[in-house]
Amino acid sequence: MKAQILKEISPIENRPLELVELPIPRPRSGEIRVKISACGVCHTELDEIEGRVQPRLPIVLGHEIVGKVEGLGSEVTKFKIGDRVGIAWIHSTCGKCHFCQGGNENLCPEFQATGCHANGGYAQYTVVSEDFAYLIPHRFTDSQAAPLLCAGAIGFRGLRLSGIKPGQTLGLFGFGASAHIVLQVAKYWGCEVHVFTRSEQHRNLAKELGAAWVGRTEDDPAQRLQCVIDFTPAGETVPNALRVLEKGGRLVIAVIRKRSPIPPLDYAQLLWDEKEIKSVANITRKDAQDFLPLAAEIPIIPEVREFELEEANDALVLLKQGKIQGAAVLRVD
Ligand SMILES: [Zn+2]
Ligand SMILES: [Zn+2]
Repeated sequence: MKAQILKEISPIENRPLELVELPIPRPRSGEIRVKISACGVCHTELDEIEGRVQPRLPIVLGHEIVGKVEGLGSEVTKFKIGDRVGIAWIHSTCGKCHFCQGGNENLCPEFQATGCHANGGYAQYTVVSEDFAYLIPHRFTDSQAAPLLCAGAIGFRGLRLSGIKPGQTLGLFGFGASAHIVLQVAKYWGCEVHVFTRSEQHRNLAKELGAAWVGRTEDDPAQRLQCVIDFTPAGETVPNALRVLEKGGRLVIAVIRKRSPIPPLDYAQLLWDEKEIKSVANITRKDAQDFLPLAAEIPIIPEVREFELEEANDALVLLKQGKIQGAAVLRVD
């Protein structure tokens, strides 16, 4: 099969992904083999390629996978050949530790991530345990469904962790794949959404999607916001986000790594008044299972820009430059 593999850590500008031929993986007991048709491109891939997150090497990246079940290992009961399924960042967990038992399998010390510890979706085929795959609602095309599996699910987790209630005000810092989906969920819940982004293109998309206010990351809206989610890779946005947060409000940081450090925070100005900061780490299966039907019901239609599998390096360079509107998706034949 064709696959894009990463052999060593490198700046993405060096175009480190290599298109190679690999054997088609065989499903073991309890696993399904998926013939991939689309795989989303995520900021986390940039973090892996550039070494901020350490993947197993060599690795096939990609954790927003959509395709059809094409092979079954023994003892598979949940899926049949031809089912359209999705695979997300959560590839496996131990199932026994107190995190797994307590509903926080995203924090399991043995958490294995798709396209990081196990081969992912920048390829024609992959295998996964049937317990870590999800049926895709009919409403979405393969390309539309792909970004729902990480950008959507992680954004949804961030939204839940923010503690937001219907009708409250929400700030979004950064307006890429995740934020443009979160905005649509928040609006569905009757929230008023303020969007802060350096990109004029992204500000225009936010307006089109119904943001109540749009501005730059250092701008000051007229009112304080009850919840804020920061999706940017820049540490410098954290003080800005705390500045616009209402007393008692929570800032959720929904990225796996910041590319630059968070500057020192002035406690009295930025954090006092019972403000909170919380991060998002990974997702649980429940996040994906709850989010996919909600996305179909709203319905959320992700804005996608398609690339061929062969163009993975190009898509990642554009993503790093902030030049993708919505979500980038690789099409796989
Ligand atoms: Zn992701
Ligand atoms: Zn565990």
